[in-house]
Order: sequence, then C-alpha cells, then structure tokens
Amino acid sequence: MKKTINILSNNVINQIAAGEVVKRPSSVVKELLENSIDAQSSCIHLVIKNAGKNLIQVIDDGIGMSKEDAEICFLKHSTSKINDIDDIFNISTMGFRGEALASISSIAELDIKTRMHNHDTGTVLIIDNSTIKKISETSTKKGTSISVKNIFFNIPARKKFLKSNQVEFKHILDVFHQISIAHSNIEFKLINNKVTIYNLKKTNLKQRIIDLFGKRYNKKILPISETTSIVKISGFIGNPLDSKKTRGEQYLYVNNRYVKSNYLNHAIKSSMDNLINSDKHPSYFIFLSIDSSLIDINIHPNKTEVKFEDEKSIYQILHASCKKSIGIHNITPSLDFTSESSFEIPIHTQKKYPKEPTIQFNNQFNPFKTKYTEEEIQQTNKLFSQNIEANDKLNTIIEVMHVDHIFSILKINKNGVNTINLVHKQFATQRIIYEETKKKLETAKTSSQLMISPVQILLNKSDLTLIKENKKTIQSYGFNISIINNDFIEFDSIPHNILEKNIIDFIESFLEEIKNNNPNIKSKLTDSLARNISINKTKNKSTYNFSSNQALIDMVNKLLKCENPFMSIHHCPCLINIEPNNFFK
Ligand code: ADP
Ligand code: MG
Repeated sequence: MKKTINILSNNVINQIAAGEVVKRPSSVVKELLENSIDAQSSCIHLVIKNAGKNLIQVIDDGIGMSKEDAEICFLKHSTSKINDIDDIFNISTMGFRGEALASISSIAELDIKTRMHNHDTGTVLIIDNSTIKKISETSTKKGTSISVKNIFFNIPARKKFLKSNQVEFKHILDVFHQISIAHSNIEFKLINNKVTIYNLKKTNLKQRIIDLFGKRYNKKILPISETTSIVKISGFIGNPLDSKKTRGEQYLYVNNRYVKSNYLNHAIKSSMDNLINSDKHPSYFIFLSIDSSLIDINIHPNKTEVKFEDEKSIYQILHASCKKSIGIHNITPSLDFTSESSFEIPIHTQKKYPKEPTIQFNNQFNPFKTKYTEEEIQQTNKLFSQNIEANDKLNTIIEVMHVDHIFSILKINKNGVNTINLVHKQFATQRIIYEETKKKLETAKTSSQLMISPVQILLNKSDLTLIKENKKTIQSYGFNISIINNDFIEFDSIPHNILEKNIIDFIESFLEEIKNNNPNIKSKLTDSLARNISINKTKNKSTYNFSSNQALIDMVNKLLKCENPFMSIHHCPCLINIEPNNFFK
C-alpha cells in the first residue's frame, strides 16, 4: 500500500514552530533585545526599516560569540543559558529555550556579526532558510549585531497577515517600551527609517519613564515600595487623578520580566476605585520580585503570562501597597459636579416605584451606572415613555409648573389623554444640544474658535507619530494643529465650547481608537465631542433655568423631537412620563 505518513523535514518543523515564537516583526525585536540583555550589553541599538518588514537590526556591545558558538546559535535547542531541567526553576536570563534564533532563521534571512571581548577578530555569517550560506572571519566591533531581513519571505500566507506599517511599528514600540523600562541601566537607541526615535541614556527608573513618555510624567507618578516575605514591590503608579481613557502605560514586571495579568491589573485599578472613573485606566510601572521557585514563567511561548503559587496574597499585597502610596501622597479628587465623570444625582430611583406588579419597572436600573447596553437603554426608554411618543405632533403641552431650578412638571395631552411629566431641565437641554452637535459634527459643520494662547499637549514619541500620520482627520473635527514636534502638539483653534481638558480627552480617545484599529472611530469621537460640548454649554444655570413658560415649552417640544428624548446623555432619565390612570391601576 502507498505510504501516507511522512516525517516532516527539519525546515518545515522549524517553520511550524516559528509560528509560536515569531508572530510579527515585534516578536523578533523582543527576542533580539532579550538576547542582547542576556549578553550583558550596556548599550543596545535597534534599527528598523519599513516597520520591521524589511529590516530589524539589533547591535549590542555584549559578550559576543565565538566562531564555534555563532555556527550553532541558530540551531534548534541551542542555548548557553540552561543545561538541565532544574535550571529552569532558577532562571536569571530572559531566554532559555534556545528556539528564538532557530525560529527566526527559518522565516527570514539572518546576518550575524559577532566578536568576543578578548578576541581581535570576529565572525560574520549569512544564514538563509536555516542554513549557513557564508561564514568568514572579520574585523568588527566588540559585541554582536544581528540583522533580520525580509521576514516571512518564504511563507507568503503569514506575510499576508501582517498589518499596516503603522500597526506593526506600534507593536515594536510596545516591546521597546516594555524592555527599556525594565533596564534603565542600559543605553538604548531606536532608529526607525533612519530617524532616531529614542536615544536613552543610562539612568534610574523614574528618569527612564520621563525619557520615554514625556516630562509631564515628572509630576504624574507616585513611588510605590513594599517588602514582605512573599514579594517585594517597587516602582511607580500614575496619579489616579491623571488616569487616561487609553490603557497606554501599564507595565507590570515579575522578576524584571514584563508580564500581563488581568488579575493583578485589577488589584491595582481597584485600589483607586473611588478616585477614578470606571472607563479610565491608571498608568503604572510596577516591579514584583518573587523567589523564582514560587512562580512558573514557563507556561507561554512568548512568556508574557506568569503563574504564581500564591496569587491571592500577591493580589492583596499589591492592592494594599498601591492604596498606601495613594494615601501617603494624599490624593483626593476635586469635586466637579458638572463634569461628565462626576456622580450624577439620580432623578428617579427604584425605591420610589410602587411595589404593585401592575407597574412595569426595570429592576436592572442603577442610577450610578454610566454604561448601559443598547437593550437596557431601550428598556428604560420604554418605561419612561409609555404614554407619550417622540416626534408626535399630537403631544400638546397644556400647563407647566416650575418645581425648582432643576425640575419642572408639565401636563401634556396626547390623543385626548392627559399625562404628568417630570423634566430634568439641565439633562433635557444637554440631550438637545448633544443631538444637534452630533448632527453638525457628522456633516462637518462645526465651527472653530481661535485660541488666545495656543494649547500644548505633551505626548510620547509614538503617540506623536500617530498624530502626525492622522493630522488631517483630527483637523476635520475642528482642532487646528499649529505645531507637532518631538515633545508636544499645539492647537491654535478648537471647536466652540470645548475646554482645554476636553482636548486632552479627545486626543486620548482618538489615540486609543487608532491603536485598536476601531472601524467606528468617527462615530465614537463625534459622540464624545458632542457630549463634552453639551455638558460645557449647560454648565451655567441660565442655559436651562427658563425664564418664561413659553421658553420651557419650546425646550420640551424640541426634546420630544430628539431621537432619544427620555434618556439623558448620562443614561439616566431626563423626562419621566406618567399617565395617572395607569399609575393607579
Ligand atoms: P536562548 O536565548 O533561549 O538561549 P536564542 O535562540 O535566542 O536562545 O539564542 C541562542 C544562543 O545564542 C543564546 O543562548 C546565546 O548563547 C547566543 N546569542 C544570541 N544572541 C546573542 C547576543 N546578542 N550576544 C551573545 N550571544 C548571543
Ligand atoms: Mg533568546
């Protein structure tokens, strides 16, 4: 019978295995930088071309390799870092599997130049498809330079899945940030398409954070430090009051290795619960140091996940030390009742509903919740609008009564039936302005105001690169950018009724959406701008404290023409409608 089972060639085995290690150019960057760190380098240069698709080169001044080592370093399972299985429970190097260079050499061309410190000459190798194409002695600098060219040249199916240069470069920057934060004692340079993005000198952690993310971090971060028998914690947490809508600067390290942990992220975020809004993210740069026998970093090929023996205790200690740091620095929020993020006073709570089952009520309604699903909104809408309909010409306002500067009561007749309506004037006015502004923004009819003094926003280099690439889009929202340099952007005009803090919010949301490749970016941004504008426009009581009955009636008529007249933009009611007959049934 014909043989159907084949033994795969080493080349194919390596290419399949490479999928585990090399997902995209940034994975190569990570492996090469880690190798340079393991080689005790004190200065590392990363050179990128075309988002790493054409070239990723890492040049270090580390210990280098002998000719004999260089000849085998790209073979599978070749490592100088462990000898037997016991070693992996006591690892001090970044790598140990001996598969990075093997994987990379099976999916890209590899040029290696290396020289050991006590040698006069070094070795140069060209490796193609996992085989040495050329090897010779050369005069070269001490240390190692590895160039990875034309990634996935031999696997078109993988190459096809690479994202745009913008996205791939962003991944490379993420890796560069993760690694350079953990090694502030090493000099790093990042050159992208011949432009120097970072030139980081040896320094301490705080200065490294500032060098990477901008001078504004000088005041924004609070030190954190705790030593217990299980774990030692050090680093910085961002001032919770400066939390951002973007999940940007969140760096957690275990034994100096960058890790991702939703569980520990929660420990940090929840320590700031009453200081930050649920849709904002604190920044942090936290280092946990744990006896390596109490963790297992061996569970994920990319090694960004970590398993702890006693995860719960670590959670609690981390949570408590963040709280302590916030406490020591005496951070308290300034109350801003008019801002969207402030606690809204509910105009209707569950408790006030009669218990009689004849009345429908939404037992999921939580006035303090700010995010509702579409279904929840529809349900609440239905509840508050059972008797009058939006856009219905048959609604006639017969009588009005001012309760106070916030509430008014209106008697509305619909199809011969009288209803009582309680309106929250500020929320109702906001709803109207929000819908009007959104329409204007969607048709690009919003007007800008020239600033007396231009507003500057400090950003890190990668965010500034994104802003440069998307300048036109930002300007289409009415934000005119006058300067973009290596540290900040400056606006000389902004949309009407936008405050300075809203500009920062807008830019942060913009960056977040771009980074996440959100296809609905336009609608998200117009929504958040329209919200800000409507909140700012209704800060002053005079905008909703209607002096005449007619002005109030006009406002409610406008409200009834809105797409969503019963819900405020904070997702609590702004108009409640009761038909007495139904109510007492
Ligand atoms: P691992 O890092 O897991 O050992 P790699 O495939 O990344 O496996 O590297 C294989 C070996 O090549 C390393 O163990 C090290 O001895 C050598 N090597 C790789 N890069 C460098 C470098 N920049 N400087 C010195 N030696 C290196
Ligand atoms: Mg390695």
